[in-house]
Amino acid sequence: MSTLTRYDVTRDQLAEVLAGTPRYRVDQVWSGLYEQFTEPDEWTNVPKVLRADLAERLPSALSPVTEAVSNNGDTVKFLWELDGGSRVETVLMLYRDRATVCISSQAGCAMACEFCATGQAGFTRHLSTGEIVEQVARASHRARQSGRRVSNIVYMGMGEPMANEARVWESVERIHGDIGLSARHITISTVGLIPGIRKLAERPLPVNLAVSLHAANDTLRDELVPINKRYPIGDLIEACSDYLSVRNRRISFEWAMIAGVNDRDTDAAELAALCRRLRPRAHVNLIPLNPTPGYPTQGTSLKRVHEFRDLLESLGANATVRQNRGTEIDAACGQLAAGQPVTLGRRPGAAVDAG
Ligand code: SAH
Repeated sequence: MSTLTRYDVTRDQLAEVLAGTPRYRVDQVWSGLYEQFTEPDEWTNVPKVLRADLAERLPSALSPVTEAVSNNGDTVKFLWELDGGSRVETVLMLYRDRATVCISSQAGCAMACEFCATGQAGFTRHLSTGEIVEQVARASHRARQSGRRVSNIVYMGMGEPMANEARVWESVERIHGDIGLSARHITISTVGLIPGIRKLAERPLPVNLAVSLHAANDTLRDELVPINKRYPIGDLIEACSDYLSVRNRRISFEWAMIAGVNDRDTDAAELAALCRRLRPRAHVNLIPLNPTPGYPTQGTSLKRVHEFRDLLESLGANATVRQNRGTEIDAACGQLAAGQPVTLGRRPGAAVDAG
């Protein structure tokens, strides 16, 4: 993308844009962008002519299309249109003790995991740094309207963050340095792109790493997560182990539970064996499969999800069941399709946590 948008510019670049105006303007505009999360026309301490000029020279990267709300207003899904017409989604989740924003790093996704709505839609393009950061700013603005502050960021929206690593990392630095979130409250989720995991281990900020595993043997994982053919489980676990040797954090394994496919006792045994290799710093997040239009298979029943968790624990692996949020607005894990024809399948009543 050629034009710099509002959240692409660094503070120094903003100072250049504002050259010839009093120096305190940079602080005022920066505060509008990174503390108030407001639009130029709301920066009433800045002269009107300059506000109009800034709105034009530093355009927003995200045009709102729709906003869907569920869980009594505690889950908000934003649909944005980007320059060029592609669409992405962002999800804001308000909990009692935290407020999490789930952001997209690409329009679509090339990884083709068949149970994921984004994968079913295919890849359109990478997001720029400004497009990623602005999702956080917009969601933060929305959170403030409910008297809340965003505390956590998860790169678990549309796209594969490690396939867009450089821009994703720039956005992490912006979210950390300019918005002021702790690296420990930022999580990058990957389908298992080993070069990305290795790169992350060299980066200076200790963000959390989540790996979407879903299967613990190559035959099944090749089928569910096709990139496994390039980066098979043995190599992936070795990369995770190397990551843990330089980072004093834990790794989460995401496991979308699919009835009769990866929820058998043998799956638990294989998964627990992998976790024991990274013990004690691997943690399994079990997510009951959310319905998507292109994948007929059902999610595992909650009863079996809990049994599976207990089985993992008894085999020496740490596991929790992720509360699912946002299914009734197609905002839950794996349901982000940005306006592609949506959900046919099962609609659980009380749905809950995306991410
Ligand atoms: N591409 C990255 C970021 C997406 S995170 C990654 O794969 O990690 C979204 C998470 O939701 C991933 O763990 C993904 O595997 C999971 N997911 C995808 N489809 C799902 C579905 N239908 N139900 C539950 N989880 C799903």
